[in-house]
Amino acid sequence: MLPVVALVGRPNVGKSTLFNRLTRTRDALVADFPGLTRDRKYGQADYDGYHFIVIDTAGVHGDEQGIDAEMASQSLRAIDEADVVLFMVDARDGITSADQAIAQHLRSIGKKAYVVANKIDGIDADAAQADFYELGLGEVYGIAAAHGRGVESLLQRCFDPLLEDYPDMSPTPVEATDEEGEDELHHSEIDYDALPLKLAIVGRPNVGKSTLTNRILGEERVVVYDMPGTTRDSVFIPMERDGRDYILIDTAGVRRRGRIDETVEKFSVIKTLQAIEEANVVICVIDARETISDQDLNLIGFALNAGRSIVIAVNKWDGLSNDHREEIKRELDRRLGFVDFARVHFISALHGSGVGNLFESVLEAYASATQRIGTSKLTRIMEMAIDEHQPPLVRGRRVKLKYAHAGGYNPPRVIIHGNQVNDLPGAYQRYLTNYFRKSLGVMGTPIKIEFRESS
Ligand code: GDP
Ligand code: GDP
Repeated sequence: MLPVVALVGRPNVGKSTLFNRLTRTRDALVADFPGLTRDRKYGQADYDGYHFIVIDTAGVHGDEQGIDAEMASQSLRAIDEADVVLFMVDARDGITSADQAIAQHLRSIGKKAYVVANKIDGIDADAAQADFYELGLGEVYGIAAAHGRGVESLLQRCFDPLLEDYPDMSPTPVEATDEEGEDELHHSEIDYDALPLKLAIVGRPNVGKSTLTNRILGEERVVVYDMPGTTRDSVFIPMERDGRDYILIDTAGVRRRGRIDETVEKFSVIKTLQAIEEANVVICVIDARETISDQDLNLIGFALNAGRSIVIAVNKWDGLSNDHREEIKRELDRRLGFVDFARVHFISALHGSGVGNLFESVLEAYASATQRIGTSKLTRIMEMAIDEHQPPLVRGRRVKLKYAHAGGYNPPRVIIHGNQVNDLPGAYQRYLTNYFRKSLGVMGTPIKIEFRESS
């Protein structure tokens, strides 16, 4: 589980600026779910070693009416879902009545909120900050979101108390030593086959997640189910299939139906993102009867960004004409090009067709993500790639790749050492990534190549 940080404050205080800064290092894939969430944005943040989910809320004034009130209530819900609330104010404006209204709300719900005075660049920061103690929320943290000043220490202050509850937020990657031959050290200690495979089923509302979950559970022996949690949490359902242990991460609330407001609470972006973070393999469900939306692509993007293996299930394949099916396949080819390494299954969760085959791809993706790969094999593949296609010249000198070794697993990371490697153009990096993928027979998992300058 990762902690959730919500940015709240009236418009123009710099929420988007901070959001962009926090999510940038991880490709800033933003899940925008229009209609469902208004203009709330969700992002995966990886900042200064901290790993968390950040929500940029619509601006709240604190005195909204009508449609604005509805939007404000969306922001207030984001506050409920968050572990940490960063209440942003504009250091140059001083306290406004909207700031006061928001502060009053935060005090009334008793949630820990940090007052963040933004835009302290070029002004007397101490004097500007001093004003905001009047909000009655304790310490005031001065930052300049546009330049990054103060952001690190702010995060440290709000995250240190959470480290115990969220050990995953400071990931210590399985870093191999740079000595050749020792790279399998950590990996060899883990027996991935003996661990239950954590499988999340995610997708937009109504694509058929619950139907698929029920179908899978109906066919299998369910060991235990219905572990209570909050609406933000998924339910973890241990199950067994063909002698293998799984934990199904149910984002659809199958085991909670009737207990919560179905249309509103059933789907939660936070729950989906948390489930992705928890999973080893993610089944991304798409509705064949709807055109592929940005929301579908964003969810897939999230899973890949998080380094998760994925299988794509195109559901509701029953009862479609052949022409319609061909049309859907063309559309998929066009829009899913960026995940051409993921298996796509055409299924009917309702009738059960194709559901069993999903598991072959799930296991394949998991095996791909956790396979052991030795230094000599990786270096050989790298050399073959170079033979077929020389690295380019940079400033008149050819980039030299020396050797490759595994840097971690799940997802696989390949570390390549050489000279001028940090100047390798993106096109050549992609060529190498694809070459490794094909040569290793990796399916369904993103593979990451990193470069290290040899000394
Ligand atoms: P939001 O409406 O709260 O999301 O605010 P934005 O992030 O869109 O920022 C509003 C304006 O404040 C923009 O013009 C930003 O460029 C500016 N801004 C944001 N952060 C800073 C900062 O640290 N310093 C200064 N001087 N301007 C900032
Ligand atoms: P969720 O919101 O993603 O959990 O979606 P549900 O599982 O609740 O399904 C939404 C609707 O789609 C329901 O009316 C289901 O009966 C229907 N549905 C789900 N799977 C299929 C399928 O494979 N074929 C057809 N025709 N309908 C389906």
